[in-house]
Amino acid sequence: MDLVTRQPRLPEPGETMAGTDFTTGPGGKGLNQAVAARRAGAEVMFLGAVGDDGFGGELREFLAGEGVDVSGLRTGPTATGIAQVSVLDGGENSIVIVAGANAADDLTDGDRAWIARAAAVVVQLERPLALVEEALAAARAAGALTVLTPAPVHPDAARLVALADILVPNEAEALALSGCADVEAAARRLSGAGGTAIVTRGARGVLVARDAEIVAAVPARAVDAVDTTGAGDTFVGVLVAWLIRGEPLERAVDAASVAASIAVTRPGAAAAMPERAEIVAALG
Ligand code: ADP
Repeated sequence: MDLVTRQPRLPEPGETMAGTDFTTGPGGKGLNQAVAARRAGAEVMFLGAVGDDGFGGELREFLAGEGVDVSGLRTGPTATGIAQVSVLDGGENSIVIVAGANAADDLTDGDRAWIARAAAVVVQLERPLALVEEALAAARAAGALTVLTPAPVHPDAARLVALADILVPNEAEALALSGCADVEAAARRLSGAGGTAIVTRGARGVLVARDAEIVAAVPARAVDAVDTTGAGDTFVGVLVAWLIRGEPLERAVDAASVAASIAVTRPGAAAAMPERAEIVAALG
């Protein structure tokens, strides 16, 4: 669950400052990506965990209301995971995450059965790394397309890169994960394990690398951003929704870019995500 404040800047240590707005809303990279993919027309099964508390019930209802299958969503004994999001007046955001129920680290037989049936398995690092690794390996073994958002940054995430067909870090994540000093080198390095790396660069668009070569640099549409929360997640969800329909990577990247540029013009994360028809219309 996202707990979102809007404020002019981040407070200094020890400082209490006034914000201008507070909202709560469904969030988390997995939930956001699931909603983005679903709105973009994909059939989505959400595998994850919420707590036995008010937030957990709200999130389950929200996902079901979006048409996401929640039969693989577990209710754990600990609190629902939260993200405390500070949106600064310029539209940038800073986030603190407490994993709560998401810290459960076992892949269940039910999870495995769903993974075995999936066309694509899309994972993020808001669950324990070992669990994510197991999910990626199971997806690989089942012949599913594997898509990894290596965020939040994790010191040991490099070992997951070879298990992902498509890796979608933002610029900071790409630099951290690759150890490279510039983004082109990072994209090349991260795609060098035989996969595709798509580095998202906010208003500067995306860099696409395959087999250690840059194959495309796609500019972002010029829009007035009001809230970039969930921009990367919109990108990933729409990318996968397009790919599993058999669309080529270039068209999927265009659709994902357009969808993310729409999402940043509206407040909220999942709430801001466009439906397939809106994406298709904006693609022209
Ligand atoms: P994250 O949200 O993971 O930090 P980015 O900020 O790189 O990821 O944004 C993901 C994608 O969203 C970008 O590659 C771009 O397509 C789109 N996007 C983000 N910010 C803007 C913006 N200000 N204008 C247009 N598109 C944007």
